[in-house]
Amino acid sequence: MACAQFDEVADLLEIGQRERERVKYPKRAITVAVPVNMDDGSTQVFTGFRVQHHLSLGPTKGGMRYHPDVALGEVAALAMWMSWKCALTGLPYGGAKGGVTCDPGKMSIQELERLTRRFTQEIIGFIGPQIDIPAPDMGTNEQTMAWMMDTYSTHSGYSVPGVVTGKPVNLGGSLGRRESTGRGVGFLVGRAMEHIKLAPENTTAVIQGFGNVGSVAAGSIARFGTKIIAVSDAFGGIYNAKGLDLNLLDAHVTKNRTVVGFPEAEPITNEELLLIPCDILVPAALERQITKDNAARIQCRILAEAANGPTTPEADAIIAQRPEIFVIPDILCNAGGVVVSYFEWVQDLQSFFWDEAEVMGKLYRILETAFKQTVHTARDKKLTMRTAALSIGIKRVADAKKQRGLFP
Ligand code: GLU
Repeated sequence: MACAQFDEVADLLEIGQRERERVKYPKRAITVAVPVNMDDGSTQVFTGFRVQHHLSLGPTKGGMRYHPDVALGEVAALAMWMSWKCALTGLPYGGAKGGVTCDPGKMSIQELERLTRRFTQEIIGFIGPQIDIPAPDMGTNEQTMAWMMDTYSTHSGYSVPGVVTGKPVNLGGSLGRRESTGRGVGFLVGRAMEHIKLAPENTTAVIQGFGNVGSVAAGSIARFGTKIIAVSDAFGGIYNAKGLDLNLLDAHVTKNRTVVGFPEAEPITNEELLLIPCDILVPAALERQITKDNAARIQCRILAEAANGPTTPEADAIIAQRPEIFVIPDILCNAGGVVVSYFEWVQDLQSFFWDEAEVMGKLYRILETAFKQTVHTARDKKLTMRTAALSIGIKRVADAKKQRGLFP
């Protein structure tokens, strides 16, 4: 998917063969064996990855995913998307992504700590505040980042908060980082509603995924007066046409670790959820949810891609024929996370910390610029929103390669 999108945009931008090859290939792809002593006395060897896509604009940046489906190809695609995302929002980074093939839901805290520390040790020569800066992604969180930062710092002999972002605020994390991806999604949904002249009163939203991104996005979107009528997670979904009470739902999820079983709602599958008629559809979970099989049947006005890669290229072609749907493409829609990660890194490097209002104000300014640039490019060049966003990001990286020239 990532390569198909890249090839299409490279043709459009008429990127020459020299830059094209250089921009496409990931610079480094690291695979490591991560042996972990498990609580039952056995030793299990996990596989960890880190892919750094390009080094032309600064250090690389991107999340660490803990999930059973994590594989080198997926991590490489996600790293490439991080490159376009950082370039679209003007951050001085190349893209990276990493992860471990594991099921964090089935592991104890102690096992997760040992896994994280050993994984960090295995890639320690390839990360650092000026080299590559990990962050949370699916299956990882502030605690994971604290362990990574501690392991790296122990190795250095002093605290190095700038080696990871998405840390606890107490350790040099940024105010607002935890909420930034979901709030960014909310901000952009608001801008999209203005753009297509959809009055927020009486609008409805459906959200697939109720993790850190989906749950915060739900709250941000609800603030416009939009009713959240369905949400789901890996275990299943819930639906109530009258709207879900998000405070009660948050309490239910804290207690049960799933949205399933929430009273005052009907159960629904993840596949059914995507087809519910609504104004705003927010895939906020895994890749490849909107495919050639369901793209013609989704019923929304705004498709806000909070997940990375939720729509396949075949589904994109179908949605391009449905002008009633306004797409906020992933590299724009979920960029709030990495933008505030950038602020966190800057604050760590300066050891000077900002208040939340400053963080949020700066975040919304960057998202506003990226939104406007994407809308204008789509309009002026008659492109889909995705192709417009990708072309802005890819062009910046290709230009950087060209300007720097090729060594030797
Ligand atoms: N994992 C997030 C993403 O996919 C955040 C990455 C970061 O903050 O570096 O954009």
